[in-house]
Amino acid sequence: MGLIVQKFGGSSVADAERVMNVAGIVTDTYKKGNDVVVVVSAQGDTTDDLIEKANEINPKAAKREMDQLLTAGEQISISLLAMAIEKLGCPVISLLGWQAGFNTNSIYGSARIKHIKPNRLQAEIAKHNIVVVAGFQGINRYDDLTTLGRGGSDTSAVAIAAALKADKCQIYTDVEGVYTADPRKVDNAVKLKEITYDEMLELATLGAQVLNNRSVEMAKKYGAELEVLSSLNPIPGTIVKEAAKMEKMLIRGVTMDKDVALVSILNLQDTPGIAFKIFSKLSSKNINVDIILQSFGRDGTKDIVFTVNKDNGPVAVELLKGLLDDDCKIVCNTEVAKVSIVGAGMESHPGTASKMFEALYESNINIQMISTSEIKISVIIDADSADRAVSAVHRAFIPGE
Ligand code: ADP
Ligand code: ASP
Ligand code: MG
Repeated sequence: MGLIVQKFGGSSVADAERVMNVAGIVTDTYKKGNDVVVVVSAQGDTTDDLIEKANEINPKAAKREMDQLLTAGEQISISLLAMAIEKLGCPVISLLGWQAGFNTNSIYGSARIKHIKPNRLQAEIAKHNIVVVAGFQGINRYDDLTTLGRGGSDTSAVAIAAALKADKCQIYTDVEGVYTADPRKVDNAVKLKEITYDEMLELATLGAQVLNNRSVEMAKKYGAELEVLSSLNPIPGTIVKEAAKMEKMLIRGVTMDKDVALVSILNLQDTPGIAFKIFSKLSSKNINVDIILQSFGRDGTKDIVFTVNKDNGPVAVELLKGLLDDDCKIVCNTEVAKVSIVGAGMESHPGTASKMFEALYESNINIQMISTSEIKISVIIDADSADRAVSAVHRAFIPGE
């Protein structure tokens, strides 16, 4: 018995049958004597559909209006789920983000949670209500609705678990846990029993959609243990927790991210301060740079190549054209992908990088850039080769069961 936060993603509540299935899971948990707070996402592809509707009218719509629109998706799913729980005979109330006390900053489209005022949530729990909360949304200091960025309902759930010091935070989704690679793309991906916060954070940041990276960051900060599990198959999932007492695996997973643009600046003058000039310009426009590579200077010139999110590639090129000499050539390639391996064991295991590069070589895949940290190695390759690359690298490190 305790307080359990359960989060259900869009596919888990996609239609009436799925909503009833979720209501069954929630009420079973409640009937065992637990207090339950449920966080839900918009049904199925609702968020994508709403974005498409907006684009038909004004692709450059103000982000405030986009948030006003997108929060509607979760409003539908909380009320439907509350009706389903009511039908199964349990006391229930649905709350929008602001009603549940989610206060955020004002960055529309990717707002950060500042704090949760837990009074209403606590009062409803004290009345023995199951509380169904709209994920992905909050309110800013101007009383405007905000959204937390795509996949943000995971973060809403972890934030509630942290604010209420819940005993458990369960993230129900459409796969049975966190796998060594996307199980929809790699046939012999293996389900992990457990994974550390740091490894999960890297996987999520490097493209494993199964958990939103901010939710993992927050879970680590508050020591909230997460379980990722299936809403359709009631078997144990994957536990995300502290590294202590966990066996170090060489490689915990392989990821792919196609949301990448590669910007090359060729023929730059080899003078001090040029890198500062370029990257301070990009940061002043909130453009986040990922991997940076600079060539040795020769004949007074050098090249700088870097990656950004796909959308930011053309924006970066325009900014830099206005900043640098006409002698430089600035090009943007959006047909690239980042493939990464993540594992805490690689720190103490020489030869990990060469094994990854060998797997790519044997598949005749050319590496354009490499970046490493203590627990990950990423390469930039042609987008066309990305699926093959993930399979080849996965085969090299994680033999089939
Ligand atoms: P939800 O709607 O429940 O939030 P998401 O679509 O955001 O679900 O995330 C679940 C999806 O993440 C899975 O369907 C799977 O295709 C994808 N995925 C990518 N990488 C992984 C991985 N390493 N382990 C599990 N799922 C992954
Ligand atoms: N509905 C939002 C999205 O599609 C939030 C979420 O699913 O977590 O991104
Ligand atoms: Mg998700």
